[in-house]
Amino acid sequence: MSRMRASLVAALVTLTSLVALTTATTAPAHADECYSWTRTLSSGATGDDVAQLQVRVAGWAGYGVNIAIDGSYGAQTAEAVRGFQAAYGLSADGVAGAATYAKIYELQDADCTPLHFSYAEVDGGCGAGGYSGGSVSAATVQQNLLRAMWRAEALRHRLGDQPLTVTSGFRSQACDRSVGGSGTGQHTYGTALDLVGSSVSLCTIAGNARYAGFGGIYGPGYPDHDDHVHVDIRAGRSWSAPTCGI
Ligand SMILES: [Zn+2]
Repeated sequence: MSRMRASLVAALVTLTSLVALTTATTAPAHADECYSWTRTLSSGATGDDVAQLQVRVAGWAGYGVNIAIDGSYGAQTAEAVRGFQAAYGLSADGVAGAATYAKIYELQDADCTPLHFSYAEVDGGCGAGGYSGGSVSAATVQQNLLRAMWRAEALRHRLGDQPLTVTSGFRSQACDRSVGGSGTGQHTYGTALDLVGSSVSLCTIAGNARYAGFGGIYGPGYPDHDDHVHVDIRAGRSWSAPTCGI
């Protein structure tokens, strides 16, 4: 009996390895660890796969455009897909198919964060870590942070792949108050990132952020923003960096 079980287990192990091998040769491993698309998407499409796409291309919709993550593939989504495709050297037709998905898979980590940003970099400010104590649930905070990080990835690429460092991401209400905030600002929703660059000026960051889907931008010349650029994904527009002419 135990011998039979042993050969059964051996057979299963072989089968599992075969399946793993087949999977590895047909799809990049990083694709399905996070999210994989199963159909071509274009104007008029609706669904969660459209929303997943919108999260990843939202930083490419154009100057001052902050597209809704609503699962509905409209003109702004098509424009964002075109912008993404052009930025990464793909044929810019505004239709999301295999080439577009392959590029996204290259850019996304297993936890769905973009290549150059991570949850560890944006979680609880004031050294606490985590996503609790904000103005919305921890799950919503993480969802908002993911959306902000994909736009930051777009901004980074727009800057010629210049590294950007997040000096503050999510802040609990208590943390926000302790650093002089209102306690209910954008950082307490996980929608905001404070950025600095190592070899790119704050004004260059702020100027380019206008094209990367950020509704909120505060930089040099705005009170307390001479040493970083604050960007956030609020609906509407609130930009101020007087030193940079913004
Ligand atoms: Zn900020």
